[in-house]
Amino acid sequence: MSSRPSKPFKACIRCKALVKPEESQCPICGSSDFTFEWSGMVIVLDPKRSRVAKLLGIDKPGRYALKVGV
Ligand SMILES: [Zn+2]
Repeated sequence: MSSRPSKPFKACIRCKALVKPEESQCPICGSSDFTFEWSGMVIVLDPKRSRVAKLLGIDKPGRYALKVGV
């Protein structure tokens, strides 16, 4: 066993998008700053109609963390 975090996704620090650990760049904002310290997952299908998306400032469909950081 390695010491790799068991979470299946890492969160983009800039836009909170959740991406697979093997990805090196965020598909949403292009950032390469990620953290495994995130909690809560929200899937946004239609940012224009999602209240959560508005609350989090999300304008692209995708999978996001509700909270990023410790
Ligand atoms: Zn991002």
